[in-house]
Amino acid sequence: MAENYFKNHKLLENVVHIEDPLGVFTTLIIGQNKALLFDTGFGVGNLRQQVEGLTKLPLIVVNSHGHVDHICGNYLFDEIYIHENDIEVSKLHTSRDMRMNTVKQAKSKGILPKDFDKETYLSAGTGNLLPIKEGHCFDLGGITLEVITVPGHTRGSIGLLCKEQGFLLLGDAANSFLYLFLPESTNVDEYIRTLRKINSLDFDNFIISHHAGLLPKSKINDYIECATSIDIEKSKPYDFPPFKELKALIYSHGDRDISDPDYTSIIYTVDRL
Ligand SMILES: [Zn+2]
Repeated sequence: MAENYFKNHKLLENVVHIEDPLGVFTTLIIGQNKALLFDTGFGVGNLRQQVEGLTKLPLIVVNSHGHVDHICGNYLFDEIYIHENDIEVSKLHTSRDMRMNTVKQAKSKGILPKDFDKETYLSAGTGNLLPIKEGHCFDLGGITLEVITVPGHTRGSIGLLCKEQGFLLLGDAANSFLYLFLPESTNVDEYIRTLRKINSLDFDNFIISHHAGLLPKSKINDYIECATSIDIEKSKPYDFPPFKELKALIYSHGDRDISDPDYTSIIYTVDRL
């Protein structure tokens, strides 16, 4: 089943972006001695089987942050590293209700795998979480990945920096639609500090959870420009149904169209300014 559910995108030698058809990517980095999986997706398809089809090496699993589309597959793995600031949000996002919503979505898309065990999934909780701090280094053999804290989208968001291959994994910390309006998001100033910190790091490309390919470091400047230019007058109400109650605003920088590859926006609430 797993082979049909997921799709692999090879981004670099030893780096595979695995597409979950419910709308997110998780990333597998394969070293000489160990492999590391960044995020576990919605957890409906058997991601463990998918990863085992790509590598038989011992596996380290890390969550970029505590949101539903990044952590609900945690139960398929023995232990999962996450920043302590996102442990509370991860409990909410792996609740029975949240998981039930995901099952409904998968059903309506006709992609629920035949061997899917609904009851195990609904009661799976957060999985076995281990708190992790900035500076922690995962040595995969020939490849090291260093934990960088990137608060903004959530307070406990982390990135992983690979100096040997010049890439940075960022989860949802960078995005052309950056969600900064959630109860667990920081204010805009803290997010701008995060973007500047990212820009000061040494890497060529970055990888995010809602985009298929590698992105050049120069794009971080576009996000900084967008975040530092937020203008209430030029913002519009963000009416996406699940979040209507939160009265968020969307600021699209430079009046670009959504189809423009350089489109950047931040969705925020006025109290974050
Ligand atoms: Zn998120």
